[in-house]
Amino acid sequence: MITVRVGILGDRGVGKTTLVRRFIGSNILCSRSINVAMKTLHFWIQGRSIKLNILVCDFRCDKLFTFIIQRTIRTLNSIIIMYDISRRNTFSSVANWINFVLRSVGRIPMVLVGNKVDLRGYAYDCVSFEEGKRYAEILREEYYLPIIFLETSAQTGYNVEKVFLAAAYLGIRARMLRRRMRLI
Ligand code: GDP
Ligand code: MG
Repeated sequence: MITVRVGILGDRGVGKTTLVRRFIGSNILCSRSINVAMKTLHFWIQGRSIKLNILVCDFRCDKLFTFIIQRTIRTLNSIIIMYDISRRNTFSSVANWINFVLRSVGRIPMVLVGNKVDLRGYAYDCVSFEEGKRYAEILREEYYLPIIFLETSAQTGYNVEKVFLAAAYLGIRARMLRRRMRLI
């Protein structure tokens, strides 16, 4: 059994809680500052059954809770940073969230997520797929961040599972690399 701890950050209203609910269902432990939920997935790899627990920390991204977020993200294996493609200011905020994470924990694997793709074509001046992808590439090159970019719709379910699998994959890979480094 493998357990991976994933956090989710981004401006208020981008759809973090909706995404987590879509993935996990209603079995979520809520508090004022943080919602915690876990989902277990089963895989068959080379004839062996593997159980993967994905523990998700959905933060209430409020200045009031900065201290709690900072303490909690130190315990995580990877972080999802989310913006809303229909509100460009939430995309501009991504840089602040990345800096916040780098200051709090240093380089940690990330999944950059542009949510609400169902609104593309309805809202004015949406952030394009290419802009999101390019930004992830810049982060990868400038900060050597292990990062995957995805677009989602927490409303329709589009790519929701993929986001958490990507976060789990990056988190487990980083943990294995660290372990290997310690053995050298
Ligand atoms: P949070 O503050 O980041 O946790 O955002 P919420 O999950 O509370 O969502 C804020 C609002 O955006 C709610 O009204 C959601 O129904 C809506 N929302 C979330 N995801 C989507 C999406 O993919 N598409 C659309 N159209 N609305 C969404
Ligand atoms: Mg929320």
